[in-house]
Amino acid sequence: MLKTINIRTKARTEFVDITSEVQGVVNDSNIKNGICYLYVPHTTAGITINEGADPSVVKDIQTVLNKLVPHNLSYSHIEGNSDSHIKSTLVGISKSVLIDNGRLLLGTWQAIFFCEFDGPRSRSIHVKILKCPDKTL
Ligand code: ZN
Repeated sequence: MLKTINIRTKARTEFVDITSEVQGVVNDSNIKNGICYLYVPHTTAGITINEGADPSVVKDIQTVLNKLVPHNLSYSHIEGNSDSHIKSTLVGISKSVLIDNGRLLLGTWQAIFFCEFDGPRSRSIHVKILKCPDKTL
């Protein structure tokens, strides 16, 4: 089963908590045991799993990424968004989450974040739910 979550980001750099949307896809699949594979089909965005309880955590991650990869260096890419491409590569564009008893098997403080590095834009996240036999997971 493949579904696509569509979102609209509001800032150049923004982390969007998509945990409830992803859990919704899992719910719709009726798959109780399996793997939820998340794939971001963009070159200037990413996906990560980190603390969702305190919003200052993802703010700090964005601050450090912006310091590590400044917007205004003498990059070769003429489009002016090389920093966004580099951050996409550093963060990555896919994640897998185990599904147990119909629930994403995340830790207490974990949330799934879509990472915008060149917004605002319309973005997509592909979600593939793979069923596992009950006894193997
Ligand atoms: Zn570019």
